[in-house]
Amino acid sequence: MSTNRTFTMIKPDGVQNGHIGAILNHITQAGFTIIAMKYTRLTTERAGEFYAVHSARPFYNDLVKYMSSGPIVAVILEKENAVEDFRNVIGATDPTKAEKGTIRNLYAKSIEANAVHGSDSDENAAIEGNFFFSMLERF
Ligand code: UDP
Ligand code: MG
Repeated sequence: MSTNRTFTMIKPDGVQNGHIGAILNHITQAGFTIIAMKYTRLTTERAGEFYAVHSARPFYNDLVKYMSSGPIVAVILEKENAVEDFRNVIGATDPTKAEKGTIRNLYAKSIEANAVHGSDSDENAAIEGNFFFSMLERF
């Protein structure tokens, strides 16, 4: 069964390149409601924990370094069919393959610095939201 929440992060390139406002506007125009939001930064340890599922992948060390290289914006979003709909709004992992008009097509720089994160399942959306926010910080 699908829940109505997902988790996203505006990654260091999205923040660094001045796209926070445009990306949040894109997200809310697509019908998502912001439930919790935080401008913060990941240490290498925390970035490694967040992406632990990818620890055996060849890109893991670079990814952890990159994700802790600057501030990020962590956001919990709400919408019907949130996880699947948000994946469609952000587009493919590799921005050169992301459909025209998607967030990654518009704002991403590379397969690593791809502007935004989007949860891939309801279960991971809950885990990732809990990683950044306590109950008291949510609506
Ligand atoms: N990534 C990378 N190289 C790759 C694949 C992924 O640097 O070949 C990075 C990229 O930032 C991506 C993240 O690792 O967003 C997590 O990978 P995943 O396959 O889960 O992609 P996503 O779910 O973010 O589309
Ligand atoms: Mg993923």
